[in-house]
Amino acid sequence: MPPFGSMASTEDFTVQAQKVHEAGLELLETASRSNKISIVNQNGFRKIFMDFVEVINKQQKLLNIVTGRMIEQKELIQTKLEKLITPPIPFAEIVKEETRKHRSRSRPRDKKNTVLVYSKKETDSRKVRDKVQKAIDPFKLKIGIKNVKDVKKGILIECNKEDEIQRLTDEIEGNETLKNECEIHQPQKFNPKIIIYRVGENFDIDEGLSKLKEQNEEFDEAEVKHEFLQKTKFGTNWVISTDPKSFYKIMKTGKVNCGWQRHNIREYLKVKQCYKCYRFGHLAKFCKNITDDRILCSKCGQAGHRNRECSNEAKCLNCARYNERSRVKYDDKHDCMSRDCSMIQKEIDFLRIRINYSFEI
Ligand SMILES: [Zn+2]
Ligand SMILES: [Zn+2]
Ligand SMILES: [Zn+2]
Repeated sequence: MPPFGSMASTEDFTVQAQKVHEAGLELLETASRSNKISIVNQNGFRKIFMDFVEVINKQQKLLNIVTGRMIEQKELIQTKLEKLITPPIPFAEIVKEETRKHRSRSRPRDKKNTVLVYSKKETDSRKVRDKVQKAIDPFKLKIGIKNVKDVKKGILIECNKEDEIQRLTDEIEGNETLKNECEIHQPQKFNPKIIIYRVGENFDIDEGLSKLKEQNEEFDEAEVKHEFLQKTKFGTNWVISTDPKSFYKIMKTGKVNCGWQRHNIREYLKVKQCYKCYRFGHLAKFCKNITDDRILCSKCGQAGHRNRECSNEAKCLNCARYNERSRVKYDDKHDCMSRDCSMIQKEIDFLRIRINYSFEI
């Protein structure tokens, strides 16, 4: 639907208004020639004025419709853009999960089902991964590996249960090839981050922090920290971090007060995706998969053209790769950078492993 399709009829109104205007002038001319205004002329005047009012009313109605549509479109665009910046968060799900956790334990604590492994000799995470995978047999240890992820200079291993990660840690520490080379760390957890949309061009961070604390009861006992300002084409957004309890309170509200404004907020979860190979975990300037200037189309994943020139069917490289090596099949008929991608959802789950959502009630 062309958003302003009905605008064409304003021309009709202009013609109509012009006609009424001319008729009025003509009547005035006749009236001025006689010394008194006849009843017929009076009625004529009344009719013309009523016509005028009607034309103006019609135009006003049309303007209202157009303005309404413009506001609707603007809001739609803003919502879509916000979705592009941050993927949607099934927030209710985390709350459910956390509530369940708290109910089932007298003292809430974090599940320790992940471990970081580094090598004293290697800084390339792929090589660390190869070494560990060669030396350790999960089948023999009777453990389920949920996920292995490259992190800076090492790998992060996730199991389903805490005792499984314990068995794995014991094995690495006792393993002949690994024990003198590998270091094991508990991953450090970070406070959840929140993005506050459109805080204004000349935003003062210190002032902003005190306004947040003073104007939002959810932040009464909060530990709020400035992370960074994100300048976009559509304005400046502010990313802060806060303690888990205050995070839950403010996310339930869904908005924050800051000065005269009430801003939209979302949990900030940034998935790192390469614009060259479309894999996750690194940026294009650090891409080791495509070292030349070759570009892959984000829509179909093939080389030699860009997505706006693409006439192929959409195929997501990440989902297709996953489907090849696993029994579970995900829909891969979408752009490699689409927010509907199941692999992006997995990346978000991975980001969440490193975030501290637990708190004492
Ligand atoms: Zn890459
Ligand atoms: Zn293509
Ligand atoms: Zn995908």
